[in-house]
Amino acid sequence: MAKKISRRSFFNRSLGLSAGALLTGRKGLSLTAGPGRIPLIVTSHTNDTGKKAMEAGWKVLLDGGSAVDAIEKAANIIEVDPEDTSVGYGGFPNEEGVVQLDASIMDGKTYNAGAVACLENIKTPSSVARIVMERTDHVLLVGQDALRFAVKWGFKEENLLTEKTRIAWLRRKEMMSDTDDWGPPDHLKDLEKKDAGNVPEVPPHGTTNVLAIDGDGNIAGITTTSGLGNKISGRVGDSPIIGAGLYVDNEVGAAGATGRGEDVIKSCASYYIVLRMKDGRSPEDACLDAMRMIIDRYKKINPNFFPSEKFVAINRKGEVGCAYMKGRTPRMSIRHSGGYSIHTGTVAFPD
Ligand code: ASP
Repeated sequence: MAKKISRRSFFNRSLGLSAGALLTGRKGLSLTAGPGRIPLIVTSHTNDTGKKAMEAGWKVLLDGGSAVDAIEKAANIIEVDPEDTSVGYGGFPNEEGVVQLDASIMDGKTYNAGAVACLENIKTPSSVARIVMERTDHVLLVGQDALRFAVKWGFKEENLLTEKTRIAWLRRKEMMSDTDDWGPPDHLKDLEKKDAGNVPEVPPHGTTNVLAIDGDGNIAGITTTSGLGNKISGRVGDSPIIGAGLYVDNEVGAAGATGRGEDVIKSCASYYIVLRMKDGRSPEDACLDAMRMIIDRYKKINPNFFPSEKFVAINRKGEVGCAYMKGRTPRMSIRHSGGYSIHTGTVAFPD
């Protein structure tokens, strides 16, 4: 049975940490990220579903549940949202029109981790990843074997394609090239052109990271995604790769990534962020350090290179931070004893 923690002791603990954090006066602590508080749950999602997920995860923490329980509860809410085209059910399919999901989970107390990649037909890949972590001696299961494993554990097979993503996928296929046999045929071309604006040039992609610290100071994280829309069938992104899309260490904190997975894998970005926090950097500064590291490497090879990652991180004091490459505002949802809020992070390279 999870032990229940009273609201008062949460509040006291939060206040104690806030005061301590403010006294240290470290850069990045008070102005952008706010004073640290534990327990705490955060996600890179800032829409209504992200908020619902935070409230549900927070309830788990408030009832004395573990960080692992809280992040799973929160991630599942985002995964089953049919309107979200970047995570779980309703995620944008690969080039064959098949939704293939990637997810990982890590427990900072034990350093145990579990992950699934290219998982089809299961709405909640992060829960399958949790079973890999807790009920096997492996870390990563892939494809049809991951599906077989999930079914053995009682997960229901379901079609993950919604009407919205099926139609968007077909329209994209039709509009991609004039030199294949997909439509629109000549007599419909003019008619269809006016709709073409609805077909995104870059197929949709996205991910969610959920990170939490429970009342015992244990830290855990999940990263879950449908990956890059229109990806080659079988492509695995950073989300299920421990150290790339997610890393958690109870002694330090946790970090997660969204954005183009190939860049994140090649830079082991989440592990790097946790190492930077270990060296005393605030979560936000550590996210910026990872941006700088990626840019410095790849710009040498290609001056026009500009990756599009967003990183989120928390440290063991309950401080938070996030950073985005450029173009979009880096935001993350936070829930702690002070309520729900959205933290706006730093744009790494505004120009
Ligand atoms: N990181 C994800 C992937 O590469 C996609 C995203 O977050 O946009 O699979």
